[in-house]
Amino acid sequence: MKTVAVLGATGSIGTQALEIIGDHPGLRAVALSAHRDAASLAALAARHDVSLVALTDADAARSAPGIPLAGEQGLLELVRRSDADIVLNAIVGAAGLRATLAALEAGADLALANKESLVAGGPLVTAAARRAGRMVLPVDSEHSALWQCLGDAPPETVESLVITASGGPFRGLSAADLAAVTPEQALAHPTWSMGAKITIDSATLMNKGLEVIEAHFLFGMPYERIEVAVHPQSIVHAMVRLRDGALLAHLGLPDMRVPISYALTYPNRAETPAPRLDLASLTLEFAPPDPGVFRCLALARAAGEAGGTAPCALNAANEVAVSAFLAGGLPFPGIADVVERVLGQIEAAPVESVDQVLETDRLARRLATDAVAVAA
Ligand code: NAD
Ligand code: MG
Repeated sequence: MKTVAVLGATGSIGTQALEIIGDHPGLRAVALSAHRDAASLAALAARHDVSLVALTDADAARSAPGIPLAGEQGLLELVRRSDADIVLNAIVGAAGLRATLAALEAGADLALANKESLVAGGPLVTAAARRAGRMVLPVDSEHSALWQCLGDAPPETVESLVITASGGPFRGLSAADLAAVTPEQALAHPTWSMGAKITIDSATLMNKGLEVIEAHFLFGMPYERIEVAVHPQSIVHAMVRLRDGALLAHLGLPDMRVPISYALTYPNRAETPAPRLDLASLTLEFAPPDPGVFRCLALARAAGEAGGTAPCALNAANEVAVSAFLAGGLPFPGIADVVERVLGQIEAAPVESVDQVLETDRLARRLATDAVAVAA
């Protein structure tokens, strides 16, 4: 029996993970967190018979007196008290960084959906995993696919990693077309159903940029050996090029239950209800991304290559810009403008501590808020 703490239990990944856990006799949920939605959290806790729960939004927690663990401290306390074998971090945003570190420090393996914590604090997370001797189990579909294709291939045999991108709802549009797109259009993802923030990141291709950085830290791969291919069908999730010319691919219909299940049941592989791929109906197309139109991908790659606190600043600026776009306060191309402006204003420093990273996060948010006011 493996015990699992699910952080961000009410979200898209969190609820799918609880479905997998509920169906698997060898998995048991022992702790759940959510941000604001006390009613949904209580319903999930009742259904999965979990008594250890936390609400991270302090105001929401005050009006839900049945939930004593509140705020970020409550979340960290929940991670420690859960004593879980696996902590699944399905929180959205860099708000998940301290929980990511706390999970590893508590001696749990970390099933990581919350890519922003790895982008913001990559060197801290990899060092914490090494110190604790625990695994970071990728939940992001592309990284789960890479992990499976890599298997135990010796590092010197791996030439490069290829991450696929659907291209999002605006694939093929020009920069001029993008100026007028609305949040409703951006939220209509062609192949994946996900939370709002990652759906906007998929429309800008920032999600792919964050995933390039995520792959760099998860697999220790230099940036020049991480490729991105636009693949509108979202059937091939990732590929690994080997030095003999072989290209290994991981295929499946877009369904997050598959990578969630793999992370939670590794090194075994459980049955899942995910629909099976019909080979006769397959069409697989690949094209390079258009860097002139989808500028966020190049901005992310540049921040990754700059290293240190630059990816943290990129991520924080993007979080502010995406919220502003969703609230109707920033045009779609303004997201890249805001990120670019903030990156130009912050000097990257080598990552030393979580406090330093979170200070960079706060500074970038402040600068991004100013940049939104200019760009709006
Ligand atoms: P979501 O918005 O559906 O859910 C987010 C969860 O985090 C909710 O439970 C919410 O209550 C909680 N939360 C929100 N703000 C918080 C905060 N400040 N502090 C603590 N908790 C907070 O998001 P999602 O789509 O499930 O994505 C979660 C993470 O997984 C993101 O990092 C995303 O990039 C990643 N991811 C998601 C998918 C997907 O298919 N949804 C795929 C790959 C990776
Ligand atoms: Mg992904």
